Amino acid sequence: MINYDLLKDELAKIGVSLDSYGLDRFDAYAERLVRWNKHVNLTAITEPDDIVIKHFFDSLYPLKYVHMNKEQRLVDIGTGAGFPGLPLLIAEPQLEVDFVDSVGKKLAFIKDVLRNSGLLARVVHKRAEEIGRNDDYREQYDYATARAVAPLNALCEYALPLVKVGGLFISLKGETGALELKKAENAIKVLGGEVVKFDEYTLPNGDARSIIIIKKISQTPTKYPRKSKKIDTRPL
Ligand code: SAM
Repeated sequence: MINYDLLKDELAKIGVSLDSYGLDRFDAYAERLVRWNKHVNLTAITEPDDIVIKHFFDSLYPLKYVHMNKEQRLVDIGTGAGFPGLPLLIAEPQLEVDFVDSVGKKLAFIKDVLRNSGLLARVVHKRAEEIGRNDDYREQYDYATARAVAPLNALCEYALPLVKVGGLFISLKGETGALELKKAENAIKVLGGEVVKFDEYTLPNGDARSIIIIKKISQTPTKYPRKSKKIDTRPL
């Protein structure tokens, strides 16, 4: 059982509130995460208070800056066990979320949590750069999110092709955020983005985190995203 007051109190500090359905859904999510983790490698974080802070609160931090309170489309890239996309969907259930990961077992976990919580969303078992070349996904999203997936310069090539002009790519990073942002300046420009927010913060347990919000200001040239090997070995 997670500590509801811990989650509520920390979220109140960033201006986010949850109703009792939301809190119960987070509790059920934590319970399933620990249970599934015994058989499928989903997370190293399994203590209830750590799950609340390092997974749930951290995933909801974007809501301090971005009000996702409309029927908008969000794609969570390299979602793993659902972070940050699933907490964002629990907090803002009107969002239309696509969970993308190249590993099917992780998506099976997300489907199980969705089914159990009565939430609707789509899982996409593909690589982000693959769907970035497909018109069913390319420039279709108001938001792309990603946490702990790749260095920012490569990550921008995964994410920005999926975002509509006017939409946002929200990247959650650790203490390397400032350095990664510096190295990604060229990629952001080439892919049609502009940084609108960079913030360094500390989780209640003392861990250093950062958030980078990039607005899509022009269409991504059609030659991007390139094949994965090129993105990783020759980032923009
Ligand atoms: N975002 C989650 C989190 O913060 O806990 C999971 C992070 S985990 C370290 C990285 C995940 O990204 C893995 O599940 C991996 O399969 C996925 N991944 C890495 N590169 C990807 C790509 N190009 N397309 C789709 N998924 C990718």
